[in-house]
Amino acid sequence: MNKKTLKDINFENKKVIVRFDFNVPISDGTITDDKRIKATLATIKYLQDHNAKIIMLSHLGRVKTEEDKQKKTLAPIAKKLAELANYPVTFIDETRGKKLEAAINNLKAKDLLLIENTRFEDLNGKKESGNDPELGTYWASLAEVFVNDAFGTAHRAHASNVGIATYIGDSCVGFLIEKELTMLNKIVLNPSRPFVAVLGGAKVSDKIDVIKQLLNKADTVIIGGAMAYTFMKALGYSIGNSLVENDKIDLAKELIELGKEKLVLPIDYVTVSEFKDIPGTNTKDCNIADNQMGLDIGIETVKLFNAKLQTAKTVFWNGPVGVFEMNNFARGTEAICETIANLKDAFTLVGGGDSAAAVGKFHYEDKVSFISTGGGASLEYVEGKPLPGIEAIKNKL
Ligand code: ADP
Ligand code: MG
Repeated sequence: MNKKTLKDINFENKKVIVRFDFNVPISDGTITDDKRIKATLATIKYLQDHNAKIIMLSHLGRVKTEEDKQKKTLAPIAKKLAELANYPVTFIDETRGKKLEAAINNLKAKDLLLIENTRFEDLNGKKESGNDPELGTYWASLAEVFVNDAFGTAHRAHASNVGIATYIGDSCVGFLIEKELTMLNKIVLNPSRPFVAVLGGAKVSDKIDVIKQLLNKADTVIIGGAMAYTFMKALGYSIGNSLVENDKIDLAKELIELGKEKLVLPIDYVTVSEFKDIPGTNTKDCNIADNQMGLDIGIETVKLFNAKLQTAKTVFWNGPVGVFEMNNFARGTEAICETIANLKDAFTLVGGGDSAAAVGKFHYEDKVSFISTGGGASLEYVEGKPLPGIEAIKNKL
């Protein structure tokens, strides 16, 4: 990687501003999943071991109104982080100003300080999300070095990543981003072959560019989930009331043409008459009756997809192949998880929030090579698009 990493910088006694992804689920003030906080500990420990004064920032959800502020404060995160890092965390309930600046001046080596939710700055004119130069300059002025370790937002140019990186003297990526890039590069650069991609999920429109890119790079591209119906309709099959994007049919035709035998589509489905967790029926072929909708891949498709995956040496999976949240339509997605988990000597990477949730639901977390923490960012990286939050970081000398 040509970007500076933690080991390229001397942090001794320096004020270091670090962008993390503390965007965790919170219900009634309680953090329900602290995975993302735990994932920052290695970078924090490294900075403490190297005597940095650590100023942290993160977004949490979206902030659109004054009332959102109460629910979207980072206060519970400061508390949790102090517990996990076993070190006090000074929390400043503001995103700028005298109180923050005074607290920063009081920091000693190894101290931890957390600034309030960066998106509070979106209330006065989208300053954070719009990468307002005044805000980026201000946050950059608080420290000497910037560390970006928020992979999940790396595909967006915000003041708290690109802004700070632009206006500060030195910068690098943290351990989490470094790990993500190392893993994603096993897909993007010289993947071991055969390379099989499995794409599913709700919408084709989210994933057009990644399908195109993978049709170039992979040996096989398997398509499942709701996305498949737009392709099936393009091929002239009846899809009943299944989800479809009619304005993407021509594009699906193009992709079918481009993909030729690389592209693998379902050959049967599990269908029901309404979007409800009730037992469905397996179709006899690729067609779905008028009053039915497909919510999972069928039994023959599971066999077909499994066969295509058997010899894979690299697997990229993004998007569940059915409505796995409902037990009656989870079988296809569970089968994909199981097959991928049991591959011998294959590098298997899962991207996408819902796909990661599926791997968790079926308890295969420890059996895949890597689960990306950034849905959108990992997709854009695989699409070959530069990630602005990483591009803005200084290159290695
Ligand atoms: P990821 O977050 O992994 O990128 P997506 O957000 O693209 O995945 O899609 C996940 C959603 O797609 C899930 O909520 C799942 O229920 C839905 N989905 C999958 N197959 C179908 C289907 N046949 N009909 C309706 N929704 C589906
Ligand atoms: Mg999703």
